[in-house]
Amino acid sequence: MSIFEAISGELQETGLFFLEDCLAIKEPAARPEPGSQPRLAASHDSAQPSQELVSPVALFFYTFSDSTDFVPSRAARQPPFKNACSGLQREVCVASVENFDLIVIGCGPAGEKGGAQAAYFGKRVAVIERAEHMGGSCINTGTVPSKTLRESALYFSGLKQRGLYGIDYSLKENLTVHDFMRHEREVVEMERRRILKNLELHHIQLVLGQAAFEDAHTVAVTGVNGTRRLRGEVILISTGSKPHRPPEIAFDDVHTFDSDTFLQMDRIPKSLAVIGGGVIGCEYASIFMALGVEVTLVDGRDRLLPFLDGEISDRLRDRLTALGMRFLFNERPVKVENSSAGVRLSMKSGKILETDAALFAAGRRAAVDGLALEKAGLAINDRGYIPVDDNYRTTAPGIYAAGDVIGFPALASTSMEQGRVAVCHAFGFKYKQRVASMLPMGIYTIPEISAAGETEESCKEKKIDYCVGRAHYENNARGHIIGDTAGLLKLIFARADRKLLGVSLIGESATELIHIGMMILDNGQTIDEFIEQVFNYPTLSETYKYAAYDGLGNLAGHKLREG
Ligand SMILES: Cc1cc2nc3c(=O)[nH]c(=O)nc-3n(C[C@H](O)[C@H](O)[C@H](O)COP(=O)(O)OP(=O)(O)OC[C@H]3O[C@@H](n4cnc5c(N)ncnc54)[C@H](O)[C@@H]3O)c2cc1C
Repeated sequence: MSIFEAISGELQETGLFFLEDCLAIKEPAARPEPGSQPRLAASHDSAQPSQELVSPVALFFYTFSDSTDFVPSRAARQPPFKNACSGLQREVCVASVENFDLIVIGCGPAGEKGGAQAAYFGKRVAVIERAEHMGGSCINTGTVPSKTLRESALYFSGLKQRGLYGIDYSLKENLTVHDFMRHEREVVEMERRRILKNLELHHIQLVLGQAAFEDAHTVAVTGVNGTRRLRGEVILISTGSKPHRPPEIAFDDVHTFDSDTFLQMDRIPKSLAVIGGGVIGCEYASIFMALGVEVTLVDGRDRLLPFLDGEISDRLRDRLTALGMRFLFNERPVKVENSSAGVRLSMKSGKILETDAALFAAGRRAAVDGLALEKAGLAINDRGYIPVDDNYRTTAPGIYAAGDVIGFPALASTSMEQGRVAVCHAFGFKYKQRVASMLPMGIYTIPEISAAGETEESCKEKKIDYCVGRAHYENNARGHIIGDTAGLLKLIFARADRKLLGVSLIGESATELIHIGMMILDNGQTIDEFIEQVFNYPTLSETYKYAAYDGLGNLAGHKLREG
């Protein structure tokens, strides 16, 4: 077996694409003299004669064994790498242990951003990824696919237009899963390329394979080209999470899915049971509802998304009920049977629910399988995650963890920040010292929801003397223009000094609008700030001003009308 090492920036443009389509390359009989032009025989197809390649750039072969065949690695032949990554930073096999300042395990949002942060400040970084594509669940199975799908669902169903023109667009005729997923594939591909480009720009070495600790500073990476051993002064574990699969549920990934396999379905079902009224469950339930699928949402509690302000959660349930969604609260399946006809769910109460498909969105846990955490002196806690301190340090010196693998809040947005903060702490960069204390929650249901800070319920629990200001989209010109008259902005502020304590939104652009409120929350300002500002007209942003007026009216006890 030969071990191939290519060294030269210029090779990125001149040599790589030839190599990618080759079945094999014959090395020259002897190592070329420095300065001479090496000649290579490249076979593209065994039925055709070899093609001779003459490279004008420095290209070196080091032969450690008798064989002279080099077959390009699987990774080198994958289309996403072709244009986005030169190949020089990846899949270079060496026999000895390679040293890095930082080894990142997992290339989702936490790993990509953590690695890039360290590389930006000049650290030598390797990122290990076992999946075929970069981006983790964020890009490949979770965030981006589900959000793109949501837009497709709104488009194909014409749902946004229904309120405006009084027309009930039913789903466009003959819609296939392919139509439905086309835009999703384009966005996902674009994001995968962006990540590879980002790694390349930061000169990060991408190592493909399954990582496993050998000791607290050494990681073995097993890939298609064998095993490499990397040693890192600092290691960042960013391996993400995987869906919890309760043993009593028969997942067949044909009728019964979890949140990672759900989008692999080959046809849009006529009816769907969603088990779990958390963020993922509510999002998918409303997306499929918009597509005209009969959806039943089953949850063990009596309320959707219980961490939200109760008024917002109730409004979501009412909107989904109006669209035709069925709810089974205080309920859970005890038995699930798949057949060619679909899924039969036997409920705790004795009820039977029969649907074409079922999605179980009932929690996730750290993805640490095969990582050999114990060899680094680490273990997961009883909640199934790696415990860390405020600086994302694990209990093992030099080992950090960030993203879903550490648990709540398990969002792409926070995972990226945690990755950055972790490496800044590890190397003492005087840069990002903490993740902002105020975190936004974005929920892409239909209608979308966003929230930050206190809710009425949390204020009551903490015995905070609060006051509320509301603004309804039905009183907002932009709300009418776009056809969303059911939206609501709700401000919670301190009665004593009018300091803003929390913002909750349901309706069009909620996940964007939240950031206006967060600026005020983060700066510890009062709701008067909204009254001082001039907002574009007509905008949904204006609702902040009217919610503030409404709040002041509530405070004074003489309001003209509800915001
Ligand atoms: C359906 C769904 C919708 C979501 N929607 C949103 C949303 O709207 N907004 C939001 O902010 N968040 C959302 N999330 C959450 C978001 O996707 C995650 O919080 C985020 O992806 C976590 O990033 P991460 O880097 O920690 O892990 P991941 O993105 O899971 O990446 C981990 C990577 O590590 C790799 N890996 C694991 N083990 C190894 C190993 N031993 N060796 C090598 N590589 C390994 C994996 O292959 C993977 O690529 C959603 C999640 C789901 C499932």
